[in-house]
This record gives sequence, structure tokens and C-alpha cells, in this order.
Amino acid sequence: MSLEVRDLRKSYPTRAEQLEVLRGVELTLQPGETVAIMGPSGSGKSTLLNILGTLDKPTSGSVKLNKVDPFTLDETGIAAFRNQRIGFVFQEHHLLPQCNVLENVLIPTLVHPNLDKAQIEAVARKLLEEVGLSHRLSHQPAELSGGERQRVAIARALILKPALLLADEPTGNLDQKIAREVGELLIRLTREQSAILIAVTHSSELAATFPRTLKMEEGLLVPA
Ligand code: ADP
Ligand code: MG
Repeated sequence: MSLEVRDLRKSYPTRAEQLEVLRGVELTLQPGETVAIMGPSGSGKSTLLNILGTLDKPTSGSVKLNKVDPFTLDETGIAAFRNQRIGFVFQEHHLLPQCNVLENVLIPTLVHPNLDKAQIEAVARKLLEEVGLSHRLSHQPAELSGGERQRVAIARALILKPALLLADEPTGNLDQKIAREVGELLIRLTREQSAILIAVTHSSELAATFPRTLKMEEGLLVPA
């Protein structure tokens, strides 16, 4: 399921003029590929990730995942596409505080009442084993460290086997050693699932663990 981004543009209307944030982004990624995106604050990294994740719409251009352009679908179609094809990891973990670790990982599956409960729970347990949290299944997020919470968020992002995993500053709140471990985990699991990973980071150390690094510059993605 390849990702093809063609001449992607996004402008925001401001009082004086149009603010052109994305000015023709091109990107092609194949299953199993992982890429880090760097660039100064305000350069449009989150704008790009939000559009790739269908949380926002482009002004023009196309995004195709497995040859499907989600922006040609209606709202229901876009929501289903997002749920089934895309996983998100944000800087803030966004775990539900009242749910335990296992329940948090299962949240994206709740909109699929027909899924076999035992089967999907086994997938969640397996993922939690892979992120090293098998012994924490019944813990609440508040009982975990920052790095552990991000591991739960990663397992949750992967539970429905997305084709595209988007991570916006996933290690921004973590110290360097933990950040590196979380980055390596993201890369390893993405490859195991033959997904595509796009991770935005400020850290050149983290970016160096990725085989390919790009940067946002003048509204374009260029080699870093
Ligand atoms: P980054 O993630 O690289 O820090 P963003 O994508 O968040 O950058 O923002 C890029 C630019 O777009 C910034 O100048 C920001 O102020 C502007 N911007 C982002 N969202 C909006 C919006 N909804 N309306 C107007 N301007 C926005
Ligand atoms: Mg940002």
C-alpha cells in the first residue's frame, strides 16, 4: 500500500493575504519505509501530517494511499478510511485516564462491533508484549512513565494494522535515551507490519535513526 503525495498545497486565509504553508509537496513511500521530517517551528510539519491523516483538507493536490484518494470520499468514507488505514501518535499520548493499558489499546476497535473480541484482544496483548508492557496490562496511564505511555499510544495506533503511521513529535516530551528507544520501536514495528512511518521530530539525534530524513523548507519537502 504505497503513499503518493502530488503537488500538495495548503493555504490559510489571513487578514492581509493567503498564508501559503504547503507549496507543492511531493512524496512517495513504499510499505515498510520510514522517514523523519525536520524543519523549524511553523514550517508546516503538523499541517502536512494532519492532511495526510485526513484530519484537515488540502487546498489542492492529491494524496493517495493504496491508490485511494481519501479526499474524494464523503465524510463517512473519510472517517472509515482514517480509522482503518491510519495510525496516529502525537506528542501528548491522549490515553484515556480512566481506562487501563489494555483497554486503551483496544479503543480504535470499539467502532467495529463485529470484530471477534477474543481475537482482537489477543492482537492487543501481542502488541503490548512487543512494546514491552505485558506486565502492565491492568495499569492506568497515571501509573506509567512518559516513555511507557508513548509505548501504549504506539500499540493503540497499530491495533487495526494501519497502512500509514503518522507521528508528530512522538518523543518531544521524553529524555534522549527514552526518545531513542521509542523511535527505534516505531521503526521496528512499522517494518514488521509493512506499514509506512512518517515521524516529525525536532531531534537530529532521533532523525539519525531513520534511513531517510527530509525537511520542510519554504513549503516544500526537501532532503535534509
Ligand atoms: P509546524 O508543525 O512545522 O510547527 P504548523 O503546520 O503547525 O507548523 O503551522 C504552519 C503555519 O501555518 C504556521 O505559520 C501556523 O501559524 C499556520 N497555521 C496552522 N494552522 C492554522 C490555521 N488553522 N489557521 C491559520 N494559520 C494556521
Ligand atoms: Mg507542529
